[in-house]
Amino acid sequence: MVTDLELKYLIEKAKLARENAFVPRSSHKVGACILTEDGEYFEGCNVESIISGLGTCAERAAIDHAVIHGKYNFKALVSFDAKINFPCGACLQYLLEFYQVSEKEITIISADMEGNIKTNSLFELQPHGYLTENNLDSLKSYKDKM
Ligand SMILES: [Zn+2]
Repeated sequence: MVTDLELKYLIEKAKLARENAFVPRSSHKVGACILTEDGEYFEGCNVESIISGLGTCAERAAIDHAVIHGKYNFKALVSFDAKINFPCGACLQYLLEFYQVSEKEITIISADMEGNIKTNSLFELQPHGYLTENNLDSLKSYKDKM
């Protein structure tokens, strides 16, 4: 369960990260922030590329930001947009692999400039995502890495 203080920090950090989005193609800025099980926050923003298909979503940028710091166990992710939006299917699938690392539900929060907040579980938004059975030992080996 995400506390009120954690929610406040997640939204503030995602909102700030959104300001740095690199969006020359669409001007559609998105910010994200992921909270680790041990209480750290990692932001991300979307980064577009003039070359079609090379861009990165804010949510995956936040996840990668956490991974750079050796964090693989996630509690919650906020996606911050001008109006309520949800992480795309690719980002939800990406997050499902980290669910398989920790085997703990990850809360997905959508927040917007108007102060609206929607909270879902990862499985509510991606109920039939791909869960691997082939690389479970390899995935789980990241559970205790810090
Ligand atoms: Zn995405």
